Amino acid sequence: MAIDTQAISAIGFPCSACGGPTRFDADSQRLKCDYCGTDQPIENVLLAPKEHRLTDDDADETAGTDWGVAQQAMQCEQCGGQSLIPATQTAASCVFCGSPKVLVQQGSRSIRPESVIPFRLSVKAAAERFYAWKRKRWFVPNAFKKGDIDAKLTGIYVPYWTFDAETTSVYSAEVGVHHYRTVTKTRTVNGKTERYTEQERYTVWHSTSGVYGRSFDDVLVPASGQYDAELLEKLGNFDLAQLLPYKPEYLSGFIAERYSVSRADGWQRAEERMHETLSKEIRSKIGGDEIRGLRIGTDYGDRTFKHLLLPVWNARYVYKAKPYRFMVNGQTGLVSGRVPRSGVKITLFVLVCLAVVLGAIGLYIAYGSNASV
Ligand SMILES: [Zn+2]
Ligand SMILES: [Zn+2]
Repeated sequence: MAIDTQAISAIGFPCSACGGPTRFDADSQRLKCDYCGTDQPIENVLLAPKEHRLTDDDADETAGTDWGVAQQAMQCEQCGGQSLIPATQTAASCVFCGSPKVLVQQGSRSIRPESVIPFRLSVKAAAERFYAWKRKRWFVPNAFKKGDIDAKLTGIYVPYWTFDAETTSVYSAEVGVHHYRTVTKTRTVNGKTERYTEQERYTVWHSTSGVYGRSFDDVLVPASGQYDAELLEKLGNFDLAQLLPYKPEYLSGFIAERYSVSRADGWQRAEERMHETLSKEIRSKIGGDEIRGLRIGTDYGDRTFKHLLLPVWNARYVYKAKPYRFMVNGQTGLVSGRVPRSGVKITLFVLVCLAVVLGAIGLYIAYGSNASV
């Protein structure tokens, strides 16, 4: 399997045995030495992550910006991807797209993540998941399906925001209830006029209003500027019960993507989703058969936020001179990605479909002319 992992230097945690660099090892969940293989545990405790109060001004003072190790922010001129790498490392190429045009962003501060789900899947396991996944794709060239792929995998912690809020909504609407009545009508059958009865529906409207309270917990909003929503969604859910308080040790040997969605924009998205949920629930609370003129005014109180890092294996590969990308969920192993298409297979499929349609038309014509004789 020709999969290799992009070299990310280990940061600031020397081996207790030989002093060599150590990096976070997904299999043992410990720091492991590059040279002598000695591993050491990471002291951590499972405790509820601290929620930060969200205020209207977007100043970053309410949350820490100290990541515990010296980091530098890099931005790619090609794809715009922003990453944080150890200050001691010089980035030769963009971890997202491979472009060599990466620039250090001077003086940019980043909110430190509150919690992190450490990688559970090693690079080897991630590559195996990808191989199993590509064997099951449709309309891909056989050589791609069965062959070896030269892929470069990088473990990236993808940024997310989560928001909590206590909401109080005041609503008003008109609710309609369907009723039925029997009406007598006349019609003409064979020149004779006759009477008959029919059930007719009518709607009775009345106005309604009320107050609806709800609390939202951990509304998850992606803060990545790198991945399209479709690919991220196909990576599936993360089990947030496994969140651990942030420690810089987890980042050793990995890259943290810097959030591109600001906290204020993240809140906007969270509020939209909360509003959607509220409308749905208020509609079902109102009941009736029809609702019109629904108005909801919501107060979002006790707003808090968290900044999280979630583990994703990001990979680039080239097939017949075209670049592709895939990702593997670093916690669950779910794969999402783009694959090359086989022109031959798609053409064959279209031809088979056409043949079936033409055959059906032929049969119809044959039967149709027989029946009319
Ligand atoms: Zn060592
Ligand atoms: Zn790039």
